[in-house]
Amino acid sequence: MIGHADTAISDPTSYIQQTEELRTKNHPLFLTRLEEIHKVSSTLTEQQRWQLHYLDAWEALFEGDVAKSRQYFEEVISKSGDPNLSAKASALLLTSYGMTREYEKAFVLANELTSQLPGITDVPARLQVLTNLSQTFNLAGQTDLALKYAQMMAEATPPGASLCYPMTDRVFALSNAGKIGSDSPDFRQAVDACTSAGQPIITNSLWLDQGEHLLKEDKAAEDLVLLNRIQASLERNHFQSHMLSALVQRARAYERLGQDEKARKAALAAISLQEGDSPNEWLRYAYLVLYHVTKKQGDTSAALGYYERYVTQTQGYLNDVSARTLAFQLAKQQVLAKKLETEELSKQNAILKLQQQLDAKAVETGRLYIVLLLIGLTGIVLWLLRLKHSQLRFKRMATRDGLTGILNHQHFINESERQLRHLERKSGQASLLWMDLDHFKQINDTHGHAAGDAVLRHIVKVCNGHLRPGDLFGRLGGEEFGILLLECERDHAIAIADRIRLAIEGDPLEHEGMMLKVSASVGVASTCNAGHALQRLCRRADAALYRAKRDGRNRVIADAGEGTSVFA
Ligand code: GH3
Ligand code: MG
Ligand code: MG
Repeated sequence: MIGHADTAISDPTSYIQQTEELRTKNHPLFLTRLEEIHKVSSTLTEQQRWQLHYLDAWEALFEGDVAKSRQYFEEVISKSGDPNLSAKASALLLTSYGMTREYEKAFVLANELTSQLPGITDVPARLQVLTNLSQTFNLAGQTDLALKYAQMMAEATPPGASLCYPMTDRVFALSNAGKIGSDSPDFRQAVDACTSAGQPIITNSLWLDQGEHLLKEDKAAEDLVLLNRIQASLERNHFQSHMLSALVQRARAYERLGQDEKARKAALAAISLQEGDSPNEWLRYAYLVLYHVTKKQGDTSAALGYYERYVTQTQGYLNDVSARTLAFQLAKQQVLAKKLETEELSKQNAILKLQQQLDAKAVETGRLYIVLLLIGLTGIVLWLLRLKHSQLRFKRMATRDGLTGILNHQHFINESERQLRHLERKSGQASLLWMDLDHFKQINDTHGHAAGDAVLRHIVKVCNGHLRPGDLFGRLGGEEFGILLLECERDHAIAIADRIRLAIEGDPLEHEGMMLKVSASVGVASTCNAGHALQRLCRRADAALYRAKRDGRNRVIADAGEGTSVFA
């Protein structure tokens, strides 16, 4: 053995390369040679040492020591400075994420690798990346993508080299997509390619997949023949996941054929093989077989126990499948977001460049831009002014009477109530005038509605001439008005009301060559008699107005507590 090593290692680079090729072809020999290389590691170049580190990482992954393999792969990726070796390490890192169910990480890395693909020209590295991409996308249920990468792998394979890997990945993608059955020629071709390439582990993967199809097609006896045929090879290669899936397949086949005891034994053997409790498609079938068999035997409580494990496993498995799909979608979104970001950045870059070009241009251009900017700013200012204006207009519409511009009914009431409350707190007095124009209908009837409107506006102007800034003046409807005189005692209010009445009477409106003369009747109520409650004040003022009308119009009548005072 030593002699063999001495002669072979005279060219360490090709010796390491040959060793790498032995990984799945002859795993025991691979291990022996790995050990030999380690013995002479001090004589290796730095690049050769990184290649050895990569093989150690691969072996750790094969043995299931994911943490160790990941650490080694990451070291290769970040430190080796060898792009091809890094690509291969990334590809296997991808597989390790799949093994630990870190799907999101797996798909993010898969997307990264996809974008690096055009730059990976070294054939073995390219093939490694493609096969891991195909398998990872198959895991996510993206069988079209898996097929695409298998196809690319076939295209990247040099003439004369084996098509074992691309054909196998193709079969797995087709199988996962439900597009082939056990008798599909694709199985035969892939098995032939892998057998002649001396790849027993890959060949067994294909056989086991074909066995799954046989079971699905209700060909349990044929499946058992197949399992018996590959049993020796399975044992020789001792690949944990193959051992497990073969045992479960066997259990299911026996159960179909009614060989319950054999089924039970195989299922229990499968369960004893599995370490840990992570969800697993095969294990759930093992528990299902045990459930069926023990139930048939009448052991209800054991059956129930197995059924529970089956449900838990199934739940875990289904969650796992949906986690893969979800992670794939998430990774896709992230890639999309990154792409958009890059596009956005390049757009910003373009704008920056444009700006620099503009900066370099003549001053005239700069001036033109200032003018354009000013126009733009003016536009904004005008737009803001218009906005403010329309806001004010709406506010006015909400509180003002459209014809006369004084407070509308609702707002007059609100404001009056507010002022009265305020006055009540400081024991101030106020008086309410309720005014209605006399025989106003006749104005409309004789001179038209427009003349009536003009008179209304004129009356408002006349009244305003006798009011103080704080007084409230509102149109209550039609030709009725309310005036709240603040800080105004009853007698003073009566005097003001009468002044207003006289002014209206004595100031006819000249409208289209006609003198339109009107008079007004006014009822007065004061807080000193009626208190500060607006409703009561209104009632008293309205009653006084009613009396004014009844007593002949064009007069002021003041509420006098129980009675009323009359002023003509
Ligand atoms: P009275 O002395 O009894 O109050 O007689 P009047 O004709 O004024 O009777 P009343 O108060 O019942 O009638 C109000 C009239 O006011 C009816 C309607 O023709 C007129 N009017 C109400 N609102 C408006 C308006 O906005 N514009 C115009 N031009 N006329 C209005
Ligand atoms: Mg009226
Ligand atoms: Mg009237």
